[in-house]
Amino acid sequence: MYCPSCRAEFREGFFRCEDCDRTLVETLPAEPAPPQFVHLATIFTEGEIALVKASFDQAGIDYYFHGEQAHRLAPLPLGARLMVRREYAAEAETILKEAGQL
Ligand SMILES: [Zn+2]
Repeated sequence: MYCPSCRAEFREGFFRCEDCDRTLVETLPAEPAPPQFVHLATIFTEGEIALVKASFDQAGIDYYFHGEQAHRLAPLPLGARLMVRREYAAEAETILKEAGQL
């Protein structure tokens, strides 16, 4: 049995964590997963977004633009946050540098 609050393990026969005043559970919920996507760059123009999309699609990089839809009309005052799947981040960064986006 485990306390869902402090995650302490209890022996059989315990039903409550006295420290946290919580009812023990059979299994702990999974730890929150680390973010799968990392923020690589913020891009402000439709043209640059199109360029990044073309480069990343060609390289097979898993990415998305956060905030692009909210600012569909150019210019993009807050920019679109380019989010890249963690395992592609290094490769994506190289592509951006070569394209002059970083
Ligand atoms: Zn506890």
